Amino acid sequence: VPESHNTLQAYAKDKLSAQMVELFEACQQQPSDLERKEMCRTRLQQEIQRIFATARLYLTGSSMSGLGCRSSDADLCLVIRGNKRPDPIRVLSHLQKHFRTLSYVGKVQLIRAKVPILRFTEKDSDLEFDLNINNTVGIRNTFLLKSYACADLRIRPMILVIKKWAKHHQINDASKGTLSSYTLVLMVLHYLQTLKDPVLPSLQRDYPEYFNPFMDIDVVPERSELAPPYISRNQSFLGELLVGFLRYYARDFRWDKQVISVREARALPKTNSQEWRNKYICVEEPFERNNVARAVHEKIKFNTIKAQFAESFRILRDRKDLNSILPVQSII
Ligand code: ATP
Ligand code: MG
Repeated sequence: VPESHNTLQAYAKDKLSAQMVELFEACQQQPSDLERKEMCRTRLQQEIQRIFATARLYLTGSSMSGLGCRSSDADLCLVIRGNKRPDPIRVLSHLQKHFRTLSYVGKVQLIRAKVPILRFTEKDSDLEFDLNINNTVGIRNTFLLKSYACADLRIRPMILVIKKWAKHHQINDASKGTLSSYTLVLMVLHYLQTLKDPVLPSLQRDYPEYFNPFMDIDVVPERSELAPPYISRNQSFLGELLVGFLRYYARDFRWDKQVISVREARALPKTNSQEWRNKYICVEEPFERNNVARAVHEKIKFNTIKAQFAESFRILRDRKDLNSILPVQSII
C-alpha cells in the first residue's frame, strides 16, 4: 500500500466518498457499545450456567465482526456441548421463563424460525439480543467477516453505507422477504472480489488453515489478530466503489444464472441442485454452502430489490451525492 493510503481520508478525496466517511464515523459501533454488550454477555452466561453448567455464550454478528452500527443488535450463540444434541426450542423456552425473572431483561420473545431464536431487550434500553442454540457456523463466519473487515480500510465504510441504504429503502429485512444484513455483506464482498483489480481476495483460499471448518470454535476468536491485511493494486475511492457496487447488481450480475461465492471469490454457475433451484437470489454460505438469501422467495420482493439497485445506480451515477439515495442528516 502506498504510504498515502494508510488512512481512510486517502480514499475520500471527492465529495461522495467524504460523505460516506462522515456517515461511517457517525454511525459505526463505538468501543463503549461493545463493552456494554460484552458485560451483558458475561452476566447472561453466568445466569445460564446455573442451568446448563458447561454452556458457553459467544457474541457473534456485526457486534464482533466490526461491521456494526451503534444501533445494531447483539447476536448471541449459546454453545451446549454433549453427546445428545439438545432441542433448541426446549432450551429456549426454558431460558425464556428464566429470563423473565431477571431484573435487567426487558421483553422476551421466542421466534420459531429455521434457526429458532430468543429475542429480548435489555431493560429500559433499546439494546436488543438474538440468542440461538448451537448455531456455531455463526461463530466461524463472524470470524471470516471480521478478517475481511480488517483486510482493507474501505470495507467497513462501504458495508455500513450499503446497510443503511438498504434499510432506508426497506430491502434489508429477511423476515419480510428481502435481504438479511448477512446476505448484503456477502454481496458487497463478492463485488470487491470480482473487480478486474480485486480489492479483496478469497481469504478461505489464501489462508485455509485460519478458516478450517472443523477448527474448534474456542480457538477462533484468538486467531483474529492474525488476519493479514491484503495489499490491493486497486486504490479506487469509496464513492467509485459504491457506484460500482450498484452498477454491478443493476446491470452485470446475472441473477438467473449465477451463484455468489465469497468462498471462491467468483460467481459460480447456477446448477439445478436443491439449494439453488427456483431461487431468485443465490448466495452461498461460505462454510455450509446453503443459500443465505432463501428468504427472498416472492417474485414481487425480488423485483423490488432489483428495481432499487437500478434506480439508485442511475441517480448516484448522475448526482454523485450520497443524499440523492440516502438522507444522511436524518440518519446521523
Ligand atoms: P446488523 O448489523 O444489521 O445486525 P449483522 O451483520 O449482525 O447485521 P445479521 O443478518 O443480523 O447480520 O446476522 C448476524 C450473524 O448471524 C451473521 O454475522 C452471521 O454470523 C450469522 N448468520 C446470519 N444469517 C445466516 C445464515 N443464513 N447462515 C449462517 N449464518 C448466518
Ligand atoms: Mg446483528
